[in-house]
Amino acid sequence: MEVRTRFAPSPTGYMHIGNLRSGLYAYLFARHNHGKFLLRIEDTDQERFVEGATDLIYRTLKDVGMNWDEGPDIGGEYGPYVQSERKSMYLPFAEQLIKSGHAYRCFCTKEELEERRAAAAARGETFKYDKHCLHLSEDEIQARLDAGVPYVIRQNVPTEGTTSFTDMVFGTITVNNSDLDDSILIKADGMPTYNFANVVDDHLMKISHVMRGMEYLSSTPKYNLLYEAFGWEIPHYIHMTPIMRDAQHKLSKRDGDASYADFVDKGYLKEALVNYVALLGWNPGDDREIFSLSELCEAFDVSGMSKSPAIFDPEKLTWMNAQYIMALSKEEFTRHAMPWYEKAGIAHMDTDILCRILQQRVRVFNEIPDMVDFLTKLDEGYDAALFTNKKSKTDSLVSKNVLGMVIPVLEALPNWNEELLHDTLIGMAAEKGMKNGTLLWPVRIAMAGKAVTPGGAIEIGILLGKDETMRRLKIGLEKLQ
Ligand code: GLU
Repeated sequence: MEVRTRFAPSPTGYMHIGNLRSGLYAYLFARHNHGKFLLRIEDTDQERFVEGATDLIYRTLKDVGMNWDEGPDIGGEYGPYVQSERKSMYLPFAEQLIKSGHAYRCFCTKEELEERRAAAAARGETFKYDKHCLHLSEDEIQARLDAGVPYVIRQNVPTEGTTSFTDMVFGTITVNNSDLDDSILIKADGMPTYNFANVVDDHLMKISHVMRGMEYLSSTPKYNLLYEAFGWEIPHYIHMTPIMRDAQHKLSKRDGDASYADFVDKGYLKEALVNYVALLGWNPGDDREIFSLSELCEAFDVSGMSKSPAIFDPEKLTWMNAQYIMALSKEEFTRHAMPWYEKAGIAHMDTDILCRILQQRVRVFNEIPDMVDFLTKLDEGYDAALFTNKKSKTDSLVSKNVLGMVIPVLEALPNWNEELLHDTLIGMAAEKGMKNGTLLWPVRIAMAGKAVTPGGAIEIGILLGKDETMRRLKIGLEKLQ
């Protein structure tokens, strides 16, 4: 059997991390088994149409390297791959079910249903469609059709017995048919619902393994009743647990922290995101944590999928992002960092030095502006107590002497480069029999106006340039008078 999986997102204009993971697992499973990965756009809910939403799906998948073998833009043997373009394909199947007694037309109006729902609520019951229209006679149906009364087509689920199926993660699931309701298969506008389209499309597209969120687990028996009614082979099912923010809450759009694009915008690397998302609900069975996409394809196996919900841990993602940042080449680091340098107003500074002082510290690129704020603006009100540092053996007097000594020497330098600045400062320390730190501490404090900085005095001096460095050193000296 050829393994064929699909990612079937609805174009909502938003790629939730959980959605991305569903797509990723379907992709990894297909690749691991040398099968095919399909992209299908589920846009039958036209009321929820969002401009540009399909493009966002393409862009995200391409961005992370999840290439599809069949899909709307590249076609394939079983197209079209956009459900709204398949609209005319569903009705004949629904009519076939009407003929075989597995479905029926329902003419109940919204108001009638509301009334019955309210009545059920008043009795303390949850409303389930009561099969009212199943009992209409042929003549009654025909009269309504002739009069052009709008209708939906509903599945006729058995009221007795049980339906079972096996999920590859959760094992055998059995439900009482009496708990299932007669879902709408075709809406009044002729569009199929998810409940129907997923079955017809998965069958026609020869999907061997249906991989999707666990919210569909309880409806799967209903889908299987449809497969059986058609005499179609039931696919294998792999349902995925939700991604949670904490033990009680799903990671949701409302938390503002659930979209792939938002993470990318903050400066997370897509490789890190994919790696982290892959481990939300799957583990490789050993303690490896860092995986490229191709390594994931190699390692991914359903036996590593979890039955319990995954907790999204932003700290862990950030840690992982830092690992990926540290592994970048200087050029790649600079390419990713440049938009943040621009934001911070330091894009004109020496990128080799910036990379050297930032790459091992930055965990997410959006940390850069705060980390380097002192490069563009000295907070002149900094506390002179910063000059006192036990480890460097400095206090205000030592610092004053150091700055008083350093300023004229640097002022007189004919050039301004790292080597010269280094040799000059270190040379002075040696000459005066001072620890390097004793000389460099006050210089760096005066340059930065803060105790913790990425980079040392020499690097910061080069980034600031001679004029700004001299200006700051003099401000420092003045503070110590
Ligand atoms: N369109 C559905 C969704 O976005 C897909 C579910 C499935 O994969 O079958 O939730």
